[in-house]
Amino acid sequence: MSIATVIGVDIANLRKVLEVRKTGIVYHEDYPKHDPGPWHPERPERLINTMRVLEERGVLAKPNVVVLKPEPATEEDLLRVHDKSYIDMIRRMSQSPGPYTMLTPDTPIPRGTYELAVLSAGGAILAGRAVAEGEVNNAFALIRPPGHHAGRDYGGGFCYFNNIAIMIEYLRQNHGYKRFMILDWDVHHGNGTQDIYYQDPSVLYFSTHQSPLYPGTGSIHEVGRGEGEGYTVNLPLPPGTSGANYQLIMDELFAPLAEEFKPDIFCVSAGQDAYFLDPIANLRFCIKTYAEIAQRLVDLAEKLCNGRISIVLEGGYNLQGVPHAITAVITTLAGLTDIEIIEPVNPPPQEISETVAKRIQDIKKILSRYWKIFA
Ligand SMILES: [Zn+2]
Repeated sequence: MSIATVIGVDIANLRKVLEVRKTGIVYHEDYPKHDPGPWHPERPERLINTMRVLEERGVLAKPNVVVLKPEPATEEDLLRVHDKSYIDMIRRMSQSPGPYTMLTPDTPIPRGTYELAVLSAGGAILAGRAVAEGEVNNAFALIRPPGHHAGRDYGGGFCYFNNIAIMIEYLRQNHGYKRFMILDWDVHHGNGTQDIYYQDPSVLYFSTHQSPLYPGTGSIHEVGRGEGEGYTVNLPLPPGTSGANYQLIMDELFAPLAEEFKPDIFCVSAGQDAYFLDPIANLRFCIKTYAEIAQRLVDLAEKLCNGRISIVLEGGYNLQGVPHAITAVITTLAGLTDIEIIEPVNPPPQEISETVAKRIQDIKKILSRYWKIFA
């Protein structure tokens, strides 16, 4: 066989890979075992229902969708993000007898939490690794417990370890990635992630969140500190904001920043609690909103970083809507245009907000000190 033939074969293979986007879904059958209590919104059914809808809609049977099973993160993985004393405390608290101890008033530690939180972090690592190794083009880690409210030495808001930061630090260490752009579309501000990267210019943290709402951080004036100044971007959204506003957010803020920052990979903290029926928040996103954001991300990733996107699940508590929102994101990631997007309940009117448009202009003014594109 001539060299030309060998090269020819490789090019043909490469074309095939490029034409069909391959998407990974990270899942472990133990994820529903984390049970913070019958009163708690972070319920096992969030994932059980999601896997059922993905199955029923035929997503799992698609040849370009693979389900990947994670291993627990190692202590070394955790230590890249968290203090040893904090890790030991979570381990100790989750061994205590009785139904559960409390980390914070909203974050119980039922027995076995440590093992499941470590398995959740391992799921985030696998989503990043599968993309970095080229096994898939993009991935969605269907993990719980969530992570974006956990900082170096604290947890809360249903979070114990910061899954997305653990994934990022794994990729930095093992795959030589240098620039990470986080989109956090969860309805709550990811205070833990922001804290971890507040002084770090290699991670551009971009969050949209309802304000006022837990945890109360994430004003437009929180932009990072020291070398990290300008690398934290917060857009608080007033209660009632519809998903229709996200197009402007992507056009005016996220996409220009991404083009100038040029990330090696897009990382997403995907909480679907901005959905209009969410029981603990008051925004008005619909299922279609999530598909539209995901499509913008896919296009940007293809332009800027070889299509690399790694998504980790955060919140989202409406047990009927969340599975369809996640399905809409995954079908978009995988380019499954034959699978229709379903709104299980008719969404409210999707109004454009003057306040949001004005706030976007205010943020651009603040960011003009750091970013040429806004100067
Ligand atoms: Zn949330």
